[in-house]
Amino acid sequence: MESFEVAVVGMGALGSAAAYQLARRGAKVVAFEQYELGHVRGASHDTSRIVRTSYGATQYVRLAQSAYRDWADLEAESGERLLTITGGVIFLPIAGPYSASDFTSALEECDVPHELLSPSEVQERWPQFRVPEGVETVYTADTGIAHAARTVATLQMRARVHGADIRDRTQVEALIPDGDGVIVRTAGGDIRAGKVVVAADAWTNALLEPLGAAIPLDVMQEQVTYFQSASPEEHGSDRFPVWIWEDDECYYGFPTYGEPTIKAARDVSFNRMTPAERTYVPSPELTTQLGEFVHGLIPDAGPEMRTVTCQYALTPDRRFILSPLHEHPDIIVALAAGHGFKFTPAIGRILAELALDGESTDDISMFAAPAPAASR
Ligand SMILES: Cc1cc2nc3c(=O)[nH]c(=O)nc-3n(C[C@H](O)[C@H](O)[C@H](O)COP(=O)(O)OP(=O)(O)OC[C@H]3O[C@@H](n4cnc5c(N)ncnc54)[C@H](O)[C@@H]3O)c2cc1C
Repeated sequence: MESFEVAVVGMGALGSAAAYQLARRGAKVVAFEQYELGHVRGASHDTSRIVRTSYGATQYVRLAQSAYRDWADLEAESGERLLTITGGVIFLPIAGPYSASDFTSALEECDVPHELLSPSEVQERWPQFRVPEGVETVYTADTGIAHAARTVATLQMRARVHGADIRDRTQVEALIPDGDGVIVRTAGGDIRAGKVVVAADAWTNALLEPLGAAIPLDVMQEQVTYFQSASPEEHGSDRFPVWIWEDDECYYGFPTYGEPTIKAARDVSFNRMTPAERTYVPSPELTTQLGEFVHGLIPDAGPEMRTVTCQYALTPDRRFILSPLHEHPDIIVALAAGHGFKFTPAIGRILAELALDGESTDDISMFAAPAPAASR
């Protein structure tokens, strides 16, 4: 049987980053992807993802600060430009469930420059927005955009350059830990690995359930819409920021990015579907709802051009899981709960550290796997 130090299951953003960081450290690594590389059935395709430090919890702010260093390292190592810094605003209705002070205090504690703005100050700086009274806005200059598909392709290419054995169109059917590592059963035969990194997002429990280690996941089809900006020059990243609206219903959007459109979406649509049930067809109700919201906030957004579907697998309270399983410590699980792309190169490094060193240089105490079902 072939034998490897580490096997990676899933070559979306997280698995590709893990394979890259493992191979770069000289580990003998094999990585499996059930579909073709770059497919659009998971969570890591399409153009843009928001990168930011502005979170309402210091642990995420610190991890984001760490990730910015890993992005710079990846860009330097690959020669690829993957991040575009645009500045970003988070709109927080005072009557809503989230408070601007959570964000400003976390940013202060982590020494991240930021501003707290009133609706009139937002209006003055970005007349493209219509922000109602009673909304506080947190601005951070370091917010920007990562190119999703290009980042994943770059990680996969660099992983191969460093010696990773990447096998696409090869599904992992089962994991059989036997105390001396794990037998990985694939459509292409069995291999043995000292450690296994499971970065399978919405498909994770298909492998963990048989091990009695399933993790509660709320899986749904998400969608994003590209609007044909009525005035693209006004929505360029030199004068229009990344924006997030944090309220009972959350929305987010981007300046123009590589085309004269502005992209926007609702975050957590509750359009529940397992991977097997996915339709890949956008919901007209969600498209209409989004259009109404966006045209209220950005009157010049223009008509819908196209809508792309994607997938969320949400852990309880959307906390990451970056941790070995209690029951099977040779199996390390990575779940980013629908907000992990900005951390991709850092999560890859952390997974490599967990697999090779047994611990991470980052504080990931908050991201432990849930205790075994019996003791929950
Ligand atoms: C619409 C949308 C917008 C988002 N916006 C942002 C944002 O602005 N900022 C941000 O930080 N994050 C954002 N995210 C979240 C981010 O994109 C995800 O957290 C991240 O892409 C998850 O990557 P992943 O590798 O875990 O999952 P995936 O990309 O889904 O990868 C999992 C892979 O595992 C493979 N796989 C599963 N089971 C097996 C098996 N048994 N054998 C072999 N292969 C298998 C799958 O085929 C898949 O390729 C967004 C996500 C969506 C959907």
